[in-house]
Amino acid sequence: MAEILKGAPVAEALGEKMKRDVESLKDAGVTPTLAIVRVGEKGSDLAYEKGAVKRCESVGVAARRVTFPENVPQDELLAGIEALNAETGVHGVLILRPLPEHIDDETVRRTLAPKKDVDGITDGSLAAVMSGRGAGFYPCTAQACMEILDYYKIECKSARATVIGASLVVGLPTTVLLTNRFATVTNCHIFTKDVSTPARGAEILVSAAGKAGLVGKNHVSPGQIVIDVGINFTSEGKMVGDVSFDEVEPVVKAITPVPGGVGTVTTSVLVSHVVEAAVKSVTVADASVQE
Ligand code: NAD
Repeated sequence: MAEILKGAPVAEALGEKMKRDVESLKDAGVTPTLAIVRVGEKGSDLAYEKGAVKRCESVGVAARRVTFPENVPQDELLAGIEALNAETGVHGVLILRPLPEHIDDETVRRTLAPKKDVDGITDGSLAAVMSGRGAGFYPCTAQACMEILDYYKIECKSARATVIGASLVVGLPTTVLLTNRFATVTNCHIFTKDVSTPARGAEILVSAAGKAGLVGKNHVSPGQIVIDVGINFTSEGKMVGDVSFDEVEPVVKAITPVPGGVGTVTTSVLVSHVVEAAVKSVTVADASVQE
């Protein structure tokens, strides 16, 4: 039987560290604050917003909802984001996406200040993934995968890893973060001719394709660590990952569950970025006072 790599203890460990940092910030008169920008009333956005607000409150981070109607003109939304960029009391900005079709996603991403980009969507954040430094933050889900590997003491160095999925949100940054930790990584995507061979040959397998049942018993081998990022819903409305859990779990060494795995850690990573942004803002303010 495989070890089940649950997200809750990982999120809890992140939460304990955050609480200590939040206390120090509050002693210095700073309340770390996240602004959540939502356009319209989409159910999935409302659910994510609710989860983020709850996680913020659990560690003493303030969360502010900034809402716009579904038909908001693009200029008005951009002006709202620019105002949040300029507001010193706001340390992080989460923009719930996808945005309505009349809004150009790239223009929105370019407008957000990388130092407040706690969700890791700006080019500044993607550059930080590549170089390990600079303004911006790692995309939360990619970092959540790494937090899980670290918490459960899974060695990346010299491991063969395969990542299924090549989006800027999850697949590519996870591929880079694993490479930066000296794993040897194969990336698979929709045009990969044979996913099962590199999947089976990996010691660490991450699936982030968004296809229920994509990873079955032909894609895994004994001793593997499987990180299932996928969030899919069956016709009965049940949430499942990319991995056929019942087929794969008896074969592999360890596996994240869905729900209760990567998703549980992702929101904690987001909030930890808000705390980090607040800490950086204090450090920058201190440095300019000393100049
Ligand atoms: P996306 O649609 O932007 O990208 C999917 C990627 O998977 C693409 O690179 C595509 O080429 C690849 N792909 C699709 N089908 C494939 C196949 N049959 N074989 C090989 N590659 C295939 O999706 P995304 O935003 O990267 O999200 C991926 C999944 O992760 C979704 O299920 C999403 O809901 C989930 N997700 C989970 C969390 C979390 O916190 N757990 C966060 C973000 C996204």
